[in-house]
Amino acid sequence: MRKIVKTSVHRKTGCPHCGYKVDHATSLQGKHTPAPGSVTVCIKCAGVSQYTETMDLASFDPALLDPEAADLVAKARKLILSRRPS
Ligand SMILES: [Zn+2]
Repeated sequence: MRKIVKTSVHRKTGCPHCGYKVDHATSLQGKHTPAPGSVTVCIKCAGVSQYTETMDLASFDPALLDPEAADLVAKARKLILSRRPS
């Protein structure tokens, strides 16, 4: 099965965990475009954040997610962390 992902460009903002400047988001759930309240995983540090009303990023506790979303976030974090240079 082919997965369809959508990458969106947005205003540059800093990851609250590592400071990495983020200006893209790639959805793992089809064609979702980030909006206030969307949860995201930093491509550099795998920190979990949530878009604010102004589309900045704020630290987010993944324990607050429903089980399906938590599983998706855990898979994304595992993938990112496995691709880090050692
Ligand atoms: Zn980060």
